[in-house]
Amino acid sequence: MSNVATPISTEVVIVGAGPCGLFQVFELGLLGIKAHVLDSLSNPGGQCTELYPEKPIYDIPALPVCGAQELIDRLMEQIKPFGAQFHLGCEVTGVQRQADGRRFNIETSTGVQLDAGAVVIAAGVGSFQPRRLVVEQAAQFEGTQIHYRVKRAEDFLGKRLLILGGGDSALDWALHFSGQTPVTLVHRRAEFRAAPASVAAMQEKVAKAQMTSNVGLIEELVVVSNKITGVKLKTADGTSVLIECDHILAFYGLHPKLGPIAEWGLALERKALTVDTEKFQTSEPGIFAIGDINTYPGKKKLILSGFHEAALAAFGVQSYIYPERKALLQYTTTSPAMQKRLGVVS
Ligand code: FAD
Repeated sequence: MSNVATPISTEVVIVGAGPCGLFQVFELGLLGIKAHVLDSLSNPGGQCTELYPEKPIYDIPALPVCGAQELIDRLMEQIKPFGAQFHLGCEVTGVQRQADGRRFNIETSTGVQLDAGAVVIAAGVGSFQPRRLVVEQAAQFEGTQIHYRVKRAEDFLGKRLLILGGGDSALDWALHFSGQTPVTLVHRRAEFRAAPASVAAMQEKVAKAQMTSNVGLIEELVVVSNKITGVKLKTADGTSVLIECDHILAFYGLHPKLGPIAEWGLALERKALTVDTEKFQTSEPGIFAIGDINTYPGKKKLILSGFHEAALAAFGVQSYIYPERKALLQYTTTSPAMQKRLGVVS
């Protein structure tokens, strides 16, 4: 559990739980350095989990083929011995250097505060934000009658739900709620991106009249006495149909936003943080950046590159926090200290 009242003191804060942020935990862990990991999403995995979980990756060394979600699961397993603390659903909004000139204060969207010896930004292409429903008045109902994620499913029972989208989230929730509460699914076209099994299950429920499915575009909200009572849907043949509803759950996918990182006073080049290639340190000593968020001559946005950067950044972090320590290169094969940290010897 996160402590909201007093700042949590830690050696390192890692911003971003994508593949590179996760591997950073490992590389720091080998050096005996502990980290807290923060991500604005509710699960670790970054782009792998959000954008292409089922797709195969072929360029991870020694793994001829690995599913994107499988890679994240394997990384989570690999970093287990280091006991990193995760703060998920928690966007890092601010990073400030403390008065001592060395440590950092980290502010987040949930009120969690951390006090860290160093910061590694592994924020990928930025913080993922839901794509919003773009119709007049939509913004004023966000969080009350228009939702981009389900916080508590039971809040929607007994309500007429309009679920928008054709991907896995839209279909998973439509299937979850159908039979429990009235559900109408609306997608802009007849083909769905969701897993074929979910599409088949949805079609079966529609055939059994356990839910309704429509193809079309939301034209406008129907608002009566300051409440949404339905939407007007423009169907493929151009006719306008009224669909009554109490809540709209829109699952149009996520898009990345650099967000607050752009405000932290770090040198940027085309929305990426400039780093050196020795330690992957940004323009601010003690703040490092690895993975898709950084740039340097020859940068390639590959997981493999991010893993290499994490290894060197770990040494950079170590010499920043513990300047007196010698940066010894040890092998996991032969180092008793590393094996102890890995929990493979007692
Ligand atoms: P990300 O995976 O982007 O993770 C960054 C995380 O940081 C996100 O979870 C985000 O929510 C979080 N974050 C950002 N800002 C904040 C903030 N302020 N506070 C809290 N959290 C924040 N690469 C390969 O090497 N091989 C492939 O085959 C391959 N295939 C791909 C296929 C597709 C369809 C796509 C889209 C990409 C592919 N890539 C591939 C690229 C690869 O996914 C990225 O290089 C990799 O995900 C970068 O990892 P990362 O950890 O740097 O960032």
